[in-house]
Amino acid sequence: MQVFSSIKQLKPLLQPYKTTTTTLGFVPTMGALHQGHLSLVKKALDENDSVVVSIFVNPTQFNNKNDLKNYPRTLETDLKTLLRIATEKEIFVYTPNANEIYPNGLESEKYSFDGLENEMEGKYRSGHFDGVATVVNRFFTLIEPDKAYFGEKDFQQLQIIRKMTAIKNLPVAIVSCPISREPSGLAMSSRNKRLSQKEQEEAAFIYSVLSHVKKEFGTKSVLELSTWVAEQFQQHKVLELEYFQIADEATLKPLLDTTTNKTNARAFIAVYAGDVRLIDNIALN
Ligand code: AMP
Repeated sequence: MQVFSSIKQLKPLLQPYKTTTTTLGFVPTMGALHQGHLSLVKKALDENDSVVVSIFVNPTQFNNKNDLKNYPRTLETDLKTLLRIATEKEIFVYTPNANEIYPNGLESEKYSFDGLENEMEGKYRSGHFDGVATVVNRFFTLIEPDKAYFGEKDFQQLQIIRKMTAIKNLPVAIVSCPISREPSGLAMSSRNKRLSQKEQEEAAFIYSVLSHVKKEFGTKSVLELSTWVAEQFQQHKVLELEYFQIADEATLKPLLDTTTNKTNARAFIAVYAGDVRLIDNIALN
C-alpha cells in the first residue's frame, strides 16, 4: 500500500494497470472508514489488478457548515484499517488537499440529471449533488479508472453518478455495492461515530421501520405506509424524521400506489438523531 497526496506522483504508478489486459479500480471515500467502505475496497480488489482509494472530505457537497466542520477525520486510523485488508495487489491511497481538486477555487459545476437531482436528498441538501458530481468527475479525470465502486447506502448518489457517466460518456464502469449494516441493522456510516451509545442503539429503529415497510409493501398503500412511518417517528424520543419516500429506483420519482411499479420500488428515509443526519434505504421487491 502506498499513500500519495499529489496526483503528479501517483499518476505514473497507475500506468501499468491501464493496459488492455489490466484494470484499475477506484473507490472514492471521505474517510472515517468502516466495514461498508472496506466492502467496496475488497470488491474492487477482487475485480481489478490494482485499486485507488481516495480519502477527501469534499467541502462543496456540504450544505451545512457545521456538518462539514464536525465530519470525522481519522486519516491515521484509516490507513491502518486499509493496511489490514491489503492483499498482494497494490492499494494506492490518494489523499489530496482541496487546492489539487479545486485549483480554481471551491466552486461546484452545475449539473442537470434529468430530475434525479431534485428528489429527496436534492430537496433537503441544496447543491449537494452538484458538489458530489463535481468531485467525482474531477477524480475520474485525474485517476482514469476502469471501474468505480459506489455503495447503495447512498442510492440516489449512485444513480446520479451513473447518469453523469452516461451524459459525459466517460469510459468508467460504475459498480454498485450492497449496504453494510451493524448487527442491529443500522446502516454503517462515518456519521455514526458522532452518535452517543444510546443514539446508536435507538438508530437501529430506522432499519426496523424500513424492514416493516418492505414486509407490508404490496398489501398496504403507499399512503398508509407513509402515514405509519410518520407516526412511528412522531412517538420517538430520540429520532426525528426528515423524509420518507417510496420511489421508483430508476427515476427516483415518488410512487403513488403500490401497484404502480412493484418491481422497481425502493423506500428512502432521512432521520436526525440530535444534530446527526442519517440516511438509509431498502429495496421493496
Ligand atoms: P463516504 O465516505 O460516506 O462518502 O462513502 C464512500 C462510499 O462508501 C460511497 O460510495 C458510499 O455509498 C459507500 N458507503 C458508505 N457507507 C456504506 C455502507 N454502510 N454500505 C455500503 N457502502 C457504503
